[in-house]
Amino acid sequence: MRAVDVIARKRDGHELSREEIDGFVTGFARGEIPDYQVSAWAMAVVLRGMSARETYDLTMAMVASGETLDLSQVAPRSVDKHSTGGVGDKTTLVVGPSVAACGVPVAKMSGRGLGYSGGTLDKLDSIPGFRVELTIDEFLRQLKEIGLVLCGQTVDLAPADGKLYALRDVTATVPSMALIAASVMSKKIASGARGIVLDVKTGSGAFMPTVDEAAALARRMVDIGRRAGRRVVALISDMNQPLGSAVGNALEVREALATLQGGGPRDFREHCLRVGAHMLILAGKARNLAAARKSLVAVLSDGSALAKFRELVTAQGGDPRAIDDPNLLPAAPVVVEMTSPRGGHLRRLDARTVGEVSVRLGAGRARKGDPIDHAVGIVVRGKVGDRVKAGDPLFTIHAKDKPAAAAAEGELLAGVEFSKRPVRPLPLFYRTLRS
Ligand code: URA
Repeated sequence: MRAVDVIARKRDGHELSREEIDGFVTGFARGEIPDYQVSAWAMAVVLRGMSARETYDLTMAMVASGETLDLSQVAPRSVDKHSTGGVGDKTTLVVGPSVAACGVPVAKMSGRGLGYSGGTLDKLDSIPGFRVELTIDEFLRQLKEIGLVLCGQTVDLAPADGKLYALRDVTATVPSMALIAASVMSKKIASGARGIVLDVKTGSGAFMPTVDEAAALARRMVDIGRRAGRRVVALISDMNQPLGSAVGNALEVREALATLQGGGPRDFREHCLRVGAHMLILAGKARNLAAARKSLVAVLSDGSALAKFRELVTAQGGDPRAIDDPNLLPAAPVVVEMTSPRGGHLRRLDARTVGEVSVRLGAGRARKGDPIDHAVGIVVRGKVGDRVKAGDPLFTIHAKDKPAAAAAEGELLAGVEFSKRPVRPLPLFYRTLRS
């Protein structure tokens, strides 16, 4: 097989065989196929697409490029979740402990934020002492002992994906349904869980702007899971406005703690209950959504989900006092209340704008590896559909200094629109797909 022939076949719109895909991915992973050929191939895939079978073969070739975890001895019924990324999405911090408190082990390897979309590892890093890097032995031991692990990638899962993603990032070849689906699913399959809940975001703050595009991506990922013998549920959820209220790392940990204590913003709590309920059903712990929801509400109300989070923090070297006293989390020196310049019904509270302003305040990074400020961010004080009066609070800005807060005020207003007429609240979820 010559790499140039595989590129030409994809350029001309042909379906690649499993052998061709395997050979190409293996050659790339071993450094035998140079970046420029892989970049040309990725662009051909973006333009020509891949069939469901090709996407599955690409996924499994990337899985085979690295290590795979076998959780069957330690936690055979463990479940995993994945979000395609968004603004204010701290769901893992709540569903991980809640599902584990219901007796279903959760082993989750998370990522860092990039661009306007946040990452679980950055949020966890805001807890003093918390260690996100674990060895594989620590990972397995903790999963066995407390049934919950939230950490970075402990082993080299799907390294071909890591290499390919780095190239895609700089060759304008990220937005391909096949490449995104294979990238996400290769890491999920390699990390071992038999049941996976995918939270596929749609809207202004998501990779997939429309519900149909998000559903197409979700269908492709569910199909990969089915072919690989995993049970997968994909939820298409809204990301036109931030999820919950807090955007920014320590602020999101505070909101997650409030939710684990039975409070928290209504939309965020509901979102967590739905995602968690599907995880319990996949693990065979609940028969239907109503039963699963009841179990989750119980662990949020009786303190056991919070206790599980405390166990997690302690097991990974964090200061458990920060769980009971969030004042021990990083706090920004400047906090500014921003009020609404006019009255009306909120029609738009743009997730992407809030995410980008939060990055500019220092909560996120423009390039991989950039340092971030865990204390800063934004608390959104309304939801689309709310009626506000002039002078009502709209955002609370947590900034490192006054000029940064002042700049954020103007930028945030660009993402807000009002209507004279009542506006319907946005749905939390649009569709559910199953393998
Ligand atoms: N997240 C991934 O892991 N891969 C992609 O290609 C896009 C988002």
